[in-house]
This record gives sequence, structure tokens and C-alpha cells, in this order.
Amino acid sequence: MNTDKSNVLFTRACETIPGGVNSPVRACRNVHCDPLFIASAKGSHITTVDGMECIDFIGSWGPMLLGHAHDDVTKAIAEAAGRGTSYGAPCGVEVLLAEKVCKALPAVEMVRMVNSGTEATMSALRLARAVTGRDKMVKVFGGYHGHGDAFLASAGSGLATFSIPGTPGVPACTVKDTLLVPYNDLEATRVLFEKHGADIAAFFIEPVAGNMGLVLPEEGYLQGLRDICTQYGALLIFDEVITGFRVSYNGAQGRFGIEPDLTTFGKIIGGGLPVGAYGGKAEYMKRIAPAGDVYQAGTLSGNPLAMEAGLATLGILEKSDYAGLEKKVGTFVDALAQVLRGKGLDVQYTHIASMFTLFFTDKPVRNYADVEKASASIFESYYKQMREMGIFLSPSAFETAMVSFAHTDDDFNRTLDAAKKLKF
Ligand SMILES: *Cc1c(COP(=O)(O)O)cnc(C)c1O
Repeated sequence: MNTDKSNVLFTRACETIPGGVNSPVRACRNVHCDPLFIASAKGSHITTVDGMECIDFIGSWGPMLLGHAHDDVTKAIAEAAGRGTSYGAPCGVEVLLAEKVCKALPAVEMVRMVNSGTEATMSALRLARAVTGRDKMVKVFGGYHGHGDAFLASAGSGLATFSIPGTPGVPACTVKDTLLVPYNDLEATRVLFEKHGADIAAFFIEPVAGNMGLVLPEEGYLQGLRDICTQYGALLIFDEVITGFRVSYNGAQGRFGIEPDLTTFGKIIGGGLPVGAYGGKAEYMKRIAPAGDVYQAGTLSGNPLAMEAGLATLGILEKSDYAGLEKKVGTFVDALAQVLRGKGLDVQYTHIASMFTLFFTDKPVRNYADVEKASASIFESYYKQMREMGIFLSPSAFETAMVSFAHTDDDFNRTLDAAKKLKF
């Protein structure tokens, strides 16, 4: 694969942009290679500046469930642009998108638009703290909720229950109230709440974990969390930035039949433009300014272009065959795993809806500790060889693949053909 133009751009980018990228994982450092620069994308395909057309399994990390540059979405954005790109005053499409979200998710009675998933989770945390009058927050190891200070916590040493900053620049005081438990572990959660329950404002969780690779909730796990939060008066917050409108049109909460107190959105809800949102029970959401006393604002929030892109996207998704896509992806990932096992590799895979992850390990994966045992070196070799053959995968072993409604049987067959040529 020719990468001359990508390489030139990357060298230049490194002069003026830290690491040459505007979000770290794009730099491909985990797999020890340089990024490909993209010129354009359409449907399930993405084309590099060097003219290589690849089958895309990143999907912009989640937003592109309809595939790239869907005609209806593109048209909605273009027409909106002609009417002005930002007003600083309310517009009708904000109302339409809010209504569509509330209709799709019964637990979301009111919703506030923001500009990214990070902003949504930070704002939801503030609201949960205001509502409960408590400071502590629980998240799971390997869960990702954007780059807000309070979420960037690592486990403290030994048996310490308090957390330490996960990155320089985060003051110890901002993560001291962040508690960590393993995913899929109700027992550890119960023990934690017995000790700290009276101080816990919220349990933040990706109902289907998508940022430690894809890890599915075990039977009863989400209901168990619901029960514990109710018992202790803590808010259960589903971070559906990935799963919202992806694991079903009604999100993970619709699919698993659990009502969270608050929900955060991003990615798909903006149809590829920068949008996040948080919502939930009206009695809580009415605490947000100017209806209530909890401050939260945004110059570009509810941006007309982004709202139109989101509205067009959800309008199409509402009528889309999620079950059909899930079946196709299931058949494909099973065949892919068979090909790799045929080469003597230990392969586990997880799958739900249009997401899947391959783990190069012999043990089933149920939490972050299991994920960490998967082989990074085999993944690196897999990634590099597939990329060379025009298959565009997430450049990290700890991510979920994102398939779209635009992927065709030909895309799946070509990917399997590429996998058959792999050498380990
Ligand atoms: C991507 C993501 C975020 C952060 O969203 P940004 O738009 O990148 O700020 C938060 N939570 C989850 C579950 C995500 O996957």
C-alpha cells in the first residue's frame, strides 16, 4: 500500500498538532505504525489521500451507523448550512430532535443538547451531584466516559478505596471521589455500596462496555445495578454514547429493559457532526438552568447543522432493520474467528448488534482484567496485515469494531478473503 502522501502530511502535522492528531488513538501508536490520512468516505468505504479505498470498520468510532455521507444526511446538512450555521437563539430543529430522543427512550423525559460525549457525561455528573447532594461517583475499570477530570481516575495502591489521577494535570482532589469496581461484578459493587452508599451520587456505566473492547453485560448485571442504586438512593447513569441508537433504536436500556435515572448520548445522535446530549427523568432535568439552579451552557449547543444531521440520521434509523444487521454481523464475525483459529490462534469474540471485538486469548472475556490478558502483539500483526490489504480496523486491541447499515456482503467476503491470507 502506498502511503507517501499520508507520511508527508503526518510529518507536517507533528510540527503543529501534538502527536500529529487531534485525538490520541488515531495516531496508531498502540500498533506501532503511522496513521493513514483520509481524503473522503462514502458508505462503508474510506479512501486515503494516497488513493487506497479501504473497507471501514471504525465508523468514526461510532457515529456512522448509516455509513459515510448518506445522501439524506448530507442533503439535510447542506440545506441547513444555506440557512446559516449558528444563531445563538433557539431553532425548531432542536425541539424536533429532543422529541425524537425522548420518544425512543421512555426513561428520557427531557434532554439537553451539548457538543460532545465528554460534555454530556461531565454535565450529567454535575446534575447527579446536585440532585443527591452527594459527591462520590462509581465507574468500572476500563469504562470510558470521555476526558472529564473526575472520570480520569486509576485505582489507588493496595487496598485503598480512593483513586489517583489517571493522567498528569488532574488534581488528586478531583478523583478522590471516584470509586472503581470491575465490570460484571455485582458482589464487589454491593461491598462498595455497603461502605460508601450514603455518599454515592451516581453509578456511571456503559451498559454494554465498548471501550475495553466489546464486553457484554452478564444476565442480571444491569438489573442488579438498578436495584443497588435504588436501594441506596444513587442515580444510575447509562452512558449510551456508543450504545444509544446502536444496540437497538431504543438503546441498551430499551434492549435490556432497564430504566436508568439519567442517560448520556453522543456519536450517532449527531449523525457525524459534533453533538452530545444528556437526559432523564423530568424531575431531575428540571434542575438544569434556566429551569433550575444547576448551571450548564454552550455557545454552539443545539447547533442547527448538527441537529439536522442528527434528526435525519435518527429518522432513517427508526425504519432500519437492526435485527437483520445483527444477524449479518454475527455470521461474519463467527466466520472471521474460524479463519483465524484455522491459523492456530486462540481467538474469542464478542458481538452485539453492529459491534464486535476479536480477542486473541483462550479465555472468555467478562471484564477489563480478562481483556488485558489478550495478546497485543498478535493484534498488532493482524492489524498491520489487514490494513495493508485495505481493511481499516481500529488501531487498538481494546476497541469495538463498528459496522454500518451500508456494509455489503461483498465487504464481508472481501474481509474474510483478506483474513485467509494472514500469516502469523
Ligand atoms: C466516545 C465516548 C465518550 C466521549 O465522547 P466524545 O464525543 O469523544 O467526547 C463518552 N462515553 C463513551 C461511552 C464513549 O464511547
